[in-house]
Amino acid sequence: TDGPTSGGSGADLGLVGVTKAFGSYLAVDDLTLTVPAGTFFALLGPSGCGKTTTLRMVAGLEHPTSGSITIGGTDVTARRAHQRPVNTVFQSYALFPHLTVLENVAFGLRRRRVPDAVARARDGLALVELPHLADRRPAQLSGGQQQRVALARALVNSPAVLLLDEPLGALDLKLRRQMQVELKRIQTEVGLTFVHVTHDQEEAMTMADQVAVMNAGRIEQLGTPAELYELPRTVFVANFLGQSNLLPGRVREVRDGWVGVDVGGTRLVVPQDRAVSTHGDVLVGVRPEKIHLLPADEELSDDANVVGPGRVTDVSFAGVSTQYQVEVPGLGTLGVFAQNLAGGAQVALGAQVRLAWAPRFTFGLDGSTD
Ligand code: ATP
Repeated sequence: TDGPTSGGSGADLGLVGVTKAFGSYLAVDDLTLTVPAGTFFALLGPSGCGKTTTLRMVAGLEHPTSGSITIGGTDVTARRAHQRPVNTVFQSYALFPHLTVLENVAFGLRRRRVPDAVARARDGLALVELPHLADRRPAQLSGGQQQRVALARALVNSPAVLLLDEPLGALDLKLRRQMQVELKRIQTEVGLTFVHVTHDQEEAMTMADQVAVMNAGRIEQLGTPAELYELPRTVFVANFLGQSNLLPGRVREVRDGWVGVDVGGTRLVVPQDRAVSTHGDVLVGVRPEKIHLLPADEELSDDANVVGPGRVTDVSFAGVSTQYQVEVPGLGTLGVFAQNLAGGAQVALGAQVRLAWAPRFTFGLDGSTD
């Protein structure tokens, strides 16, 4: 069957040189990307970066100024929205208030005179785990339940690509986390290609197989959540996905697969394959949770990256971790997250510490912080 639970019926999505200008303003600037069939793909970026415009062009709700869009290898650029094998789930669920949940889900199928519309709508409700609410009206559902109905309504049409435009944005935090897990489960189960637009980095990271980080109409970096987090290639990505310490320095030597960088008089090393640039001004990056705080007088192995001593200027308890700010003369303030493990001791405010981390957790970026 081609029902929503059949699985594996997603299609590749391709964008080639897609640009959208509003007057002289480029909302989307020469975007090229391929989303393999069956991928949970997230377009992640701050407000105004062009992610919704990109999604609307894929849906056929907006026409590219130039470039082409293919679905399953077919060029759909000139096709109208209803002629494309896509469905969109929006933040506003737009359910019909006078119809029951089941009728809402069956609506599109009935209009297209799909023979087993009601049976398929029931399958769709089962998929989103709401079969027991089939006879209710939307007003009698919670926000999260309404969002599931909207999802079922889109899924029963068996689109090759399902587009999700901030679908969880209206839900409270706890419900949003639950729905993230649910969406991922459903996507895995149906095997469709999902393209999910969000400005929430945690949402993109927890759900998506692949994430494209967008900024000012362009893709800054594309990769798996772990790749983007562990090895950001631009300052924007390093700061948008969690926190990064970025220390300005200058390359002094490149040897045996290592780049030696002078950072305010301290020598730090970056694995060459984790360095964007191997000459001139660079930024040496490290995530706060990769850093150990050590007493200023402790012996250190000389293959670690070490800075300091510095002074602890802030200690914030955050449950699973404690977050420190450490001011290092000549380098500025670094953030350090330490897990609160059983038996672990906190470092006191005002303490003199050094900061050490393994070179393999270090990344190198181009340029300066400004
Ligand atoms: P958000 O998360 O706030 O929705 P976004 O990343 O989805 O942001 P878009 O909605 O794609 O951003 O908008 C990108 C840019 O294009 C914005 O600066 C926006 O003001 C502009 N824009 C979008 N639609 C139009 C339009 N119809 N006419 C003029 N400018 C537009």
